Amino acid sequence: METKNYHMTPEQFRIEGKKVIDWIADYYENIEKYPVLSQVKPGEIQASLPLSAPQTGEPFARMMQDIDSKILPGITHWQSPNFYAYFPSNTSFPSILGDLISSGLGVQGMIWATSPVATELETRVLDWLADMMGMPEKFKSTSTGGGVIQDTASTSALTAVIAARERATGFRSNEKGIEKKLTAYISTQTHSSIEKAIKIAGIGRDNLRLIDVDEKFSMRPEQLKKQIQEDKAAGFTPFFICAAIGTTSSNAIDPIAKIGEIAQNENCWLHIDAAMSGTAMLCPEYRHYIKGVELADSYCFNPHKWMFTNFDCDVFWVADREELINSFSILPEYLRNQATESGQVFDYRDWHVQLGRRFRSLKLWFVIRHYGVEGLQFHIRKHIALAQKFTAWVNHSDDFEIFAEPPFNLVCFRHKTGDDFNMQLMNMVNETGKAYFTHTKLNGQVVLRMSIGQTHTEEKHVKATWDLIKKMAKKL
Ligand code: PLP
Repeated sequence: METKNYHMTPEQFRIEGKKVIDWIADYYENIEKYPVLSQVKPGEIQASLPLSAPQTGEPFARMMQDIDSKILPGITHWQSPNFYAYFPSNTSFPSILGDLISSGLGVQGMIWATSPVATELETRVLDWLADMMGMPEKFKSTSTGGGVIQDTASTSALTAVIAARERATGFRSNEKGIEKKLTAYISTQTHSSIEKAIKIAGIGRDNLRLIDVDEKFSMRPEQLKKQIQEDKAAGFTPFFICAAIGTTSSNAIDPIAKIGEIAQNENCWLHIDAAMSGTAMLCPEYRHYIKGVELADSYCFNPHKWMFTNFDCDVFWVADREELINSFSILPEYLRNQATESGQVFDYRDWHVQLGRRFRSLKLWFVIRHYGVEGLQFHIRKHIALAQKFTAWVNHSDDFEIFAEPPFNLVCFRHKTGDDFNMQLMNMVNETGKAYFTHTKLNGQVVLRMSIGQTHTEEKHVKATWDLIKKMAKKL
């Protein structure tokens, strides 16, 4: 006799699952019909939801109706080809399918033994990627280093800061607390996640030095050197430097080779944050920007930003995995197993903060295999070419100006009239729902940002958005 249960049967799953795939395909086909920026007011979505959970289960069809009526209005359509805000967070059908299979398998890959393939596929795919991006051998698992998928670049930053802290204190501060006065170095343009990591890792915000930048918003190495000398003279131990390949605000690139030399001489851990723009290294013509990367201790970039891979997926490479493992390893009795004890396997829970981990390499593997290196290069080059086109249009206009020449796919520009005008213009364009872009402040001035990197963005979209911006500027 069958025991009672409330589960969805495989047959129901098959039927509803196919409808969900159709729904997603329809969504992409119709995405341009929705306002890019969600138009709801704060609290509006909550007001449409019941105050308490249903006592009895509901039919799946009713949930799908609510997806259309309650969920979609609250979506800001990141996958729209007219999404140019913040940074790309693009995805692709192979990635969605890889993620679905990962959900279907539902494995927990915390250690090798809990699903060997979740570890071994990740190791191999990140070695592939290291080769695809021209990374030095030392970052590969076949050498002293290796890669691990973190949820975000923020977690990579925290992981790097902790490993750096441990190395600087002889791997003692995990046990004894921090006995040295450690100082860390970033530029005034570095992403806030590094400051957050410094706070969380117990270094203290007061011990983080913000180094001045040049006219291209890149860190000034001579200022870095000077600050380190001053700190040493004052009894501090400099231990960590972060350099960026593509800052969030303006896509600035720090001089890696010069900073790397200082890091080596001063015995500091060098972390490279290439979260936003690192994907460009798939194309050999941009690799001059990472000249000196062999001097880095760790490096991260986000396939979940600009490599057609669903959030979350940040790639974190280290040059010496032992330093990382010595900082994060902990082995309670209930996780002891033969494979770990044999020393022949990686247990990725020793490579980051959390224990549990999803099978994220599957979606990355699908993306790389679907596009091939050639396909990925093609689309990255296309985005950069679109950014160059947009730059040319701005340069040819009498009313707008380029603020900083874009190295990759982020165009920083402004209307010549002034800050208030630019803010009003941006809000007006965004309120039309036809495009969505955001602003920053550089040298105290409001600057508009067009981040061109969504999967389905074509020249016609960028051109229509430029025309819309000009039209709105005339109306203001
Ligand atoms: N670093 C840079 C340069 C970024 O642009 C971002 C996101 O905008 C981050 C770090 C943080 O990324 P994540 O959301 O993966 O933590």
